Amino acid sequence: QPHIPLPELALVALVGASSSGKSTFAARHFGPHEVLSSDHFRALVSGSEHTLDANAAAFDSLFYVAAKRLERGLLTVIDATSVRPDDRRRLVDLARAHDVLPVAIVLDLPRGLLEARHEARGDRPFSAAVVGRQQTELRRTLRGMGKEGFRHVWTLRSPEEVEAAWVTRVP
Ligand code: ATP
Ligand code: MG
Repeated sequence: QPHIPLPELALVALVGASSSGKSTFAARHFGPHEVLSSDHFRALVSGSEHTLDANAAAFDSLFYVAAKRLERGLLTVIDATSVRPDDRRRLVDLARAHDVLPVAIVLDLPRGLLEARHEARGDRPFSAAVVGRQQTELRRTLRGMGKEGFRHVWTLRSPEEVEAAWVTRVP
């Protein structure tokens, strides 16, 4: 399913473990102001994207900005791992509060590939085991995502599928 026909007004959750390629995908398929990244907001509120105890402040700020965008009817992409159902529930609730369709693009890549990418980039202050656990949590909960309230869930399962994906906007 390489074609991703996005509703013009949607809250798009990019879902995937660290190193799955969310930020790369976002930069390729969306405009810079459409993408709200948890790393970016962590950096804004704390001075570094790696300050893990800044998560609450970072997500409060991210959700505040996302709400302002949705009020204006602007498609908004959330670039955060969102591998846990509790994290995704907040996104679905936000979309519903603004009468916007919640949709998800899931980067479900092999664990070995994620771990290799993690080691290669070396800019993340946690171990490859953390990435592996995120991927396990995603796999465990992926099939329930439709029931969580996402209107569409597009799942990309290999680098080839990610590479082939193309995003359009449908009115
Ligand atoms: P994080 O959650 O840690 O921010 P992320 O999901 O945003 O991770 P990226 O930063 O986009 O992941 O990519 C992680 C690494 O994988 C980077 O080194 C990037 O260059 C590489 N990468 C991303 N997409 C691809 C791809 N399609 N092919 C090869 N390498 C890729
Ligand atoms: Mg990223």
